[in-house]
Amino acid sequence: MIVSLTLPRLAGRLLAWLAIGLAGWSGGLEAGGLAGSNLLVIPQPKALHAGAGSFGWAGGAPWTLQAPVREARLWQAAREVFGSTNGQFLNNGMVGYSLQLSLPGGANAPASLPAGPDAPAWATNAEGYRLSVQPAGLLIQAATAQGAFYGLQTLAQLRSGAAAELSCPAVEVTDWPSLRFRGVHWFPSASGVAMDERLIQNVFSAYKFNACVIQCEAARWDSQPEIAMRDSISKPDLRKLVAACRSRFLDPIPLVDIPGHADWMFRHGQNTNLIEDPETPYACCVRNPQTIAFIEGVLTECLDVFHPETFHLGFDEITLRGRFPNPDCPFCHDATATALMAESANQLAGWLAARGVKTMIWGDMLLAPGEAVDATNAKDVAEAKARRAAISKNITITDWHYVWNADRTSLDILQQAGFHTIASTWEEPVNIYRFTQGAVASGADGLLQTTWAGFFPNERELKREVEQYAAYIIAADYAWSGRSDPPAQLGYEAKAVFRKAYANPTPAF
Ligand SMILES: [Zn+2]
Repeated sequence: MIVSLTLPRLAGRLLAWLAIGLAGWSGGLEAGGLAGSNLLVIPQPKALHAGAGSFGWAGGAPWTLQAPVREARLWQAAREVFGSTNGQFLNNGMVGYSLQLSLPGGANAPASLPAGPDAPAWATNAEGYRLSVQPAGLLIQAATAQGAFYGLQTLAQLRSGAAAELSCPAVEVTDWPSLRFRGVHWFPSASGVAMDERLIQNVFSAYKFNACVIQCEAARWDSQPEIAMRDSISKPDLRKLVAACRSRFLDPIPLVDIPGHADWMFRHGQNTNLIEDPETPYACCVRNPQTIAFIEGVLTECLDVFHPETFHLGFDEITLRGRFPNPDCPFCHDATATALMAESANQLAGWLAARGVKTMIWGDMLLAPGEAVDATNAKDVAEAKARRAAISKNITITDWHYVWNADRTSLDILQQAGFHTIASTWEEPVNIYRFTQGAVASGADGLLQTTWAGFFPNERELKREVEQYAAYIIAADYAWSGRSDPPAQLGYEAKAVFRKAYANPTPAF
């Protein structure tokens, strides 16, 4: 996904510019439920109605959480956003989660959660919430702690003032996500840990992503110390990032890229016996028992760091370079690429399933030219169909397309073959806009926003590739809101929003 992007990237930018212009002419697109309000919340809520006046409170004001349990992550977020450690927990048998903040002596609002067949979507969706701010006080309600956490993130954007005197305009927000899975894919590095912690806190969770796919094959593995690079992240630092994700309702998903893009296995002249085509050290031999032992060793260490629900195994661009299979390989000479790929993916998915872990792979090897506008690495439709038939349907396909005109065609094809799919996008705003729309319309599980800023990014790459990082804001917005207005009409400049969010000092509590 990295090697061959330069030309499509430039073409995509030019075409996207045209598309923005055309969309601008079409006009007539409305933001449902937001008419008459100039309050900016990103992602755009399903409904936001501005009221009269505002609610002000002093730092340290008392607040209450009524819930079945005092959920630690929600409790911490409430302290940060309310600017007050003066919280009280009540377990009074009430269903759902309710956060209340009002001036000392003010009346607390009743806080029962709507239930039954007529209950609104915000109250039944596992990530939905209601935020109600009136001059007398403030109430957040949700079915889950995660939903209430997102209500707090919305409040954090509407809130103003310093710790001594905070305020929020009167507003009624009811909100829930259009896509269940909303992930960011990124590479960790030893020099990028502080940046990643800041992204997790200030950007990913603040803009309501709920998963991080952390591509960590180049981490410093105990079983393979010889292949570590200068900037490879240590296991303790990786554990720290995994914990940071979990503490902000981001599901951490490790990605170890095999059997193509396997250069990381062969660093410093190591493991050359595992290369499929010795003339081109790129893919590993998936039938060599020593390769399987190597991979299971790294996966075992990775499982111990992440304790993940899901594992991403790559499986992209396997035949991009070198011979796969190599006709001279004693294990693979009589096999097809399709057979090798399916065998290996299904075997590893079974190995992970035996450990209670689900599997994801990229989708390009399962698509042929004509089935998507880019990223089609089966040679023809017959080969793509054979691969789709052979790969276990327990494997979720992250279907990556980075050009501006990506659409739902490939998502539909993969879903018709029986797969769960996640649309995967990159930095081009029109790519994110169009493909997210396609994901919502096709019934895909979600969106995965990818980052390709080198294998060991830190703040140097963030500054150089700021468009990619700003694209997180756009992806977060479309994936949660499902809004239909194009990037030029979002009403904010993503780069400015990103810079402000990233620079936001860590809260005092
Ligand atoms: Zn082989």
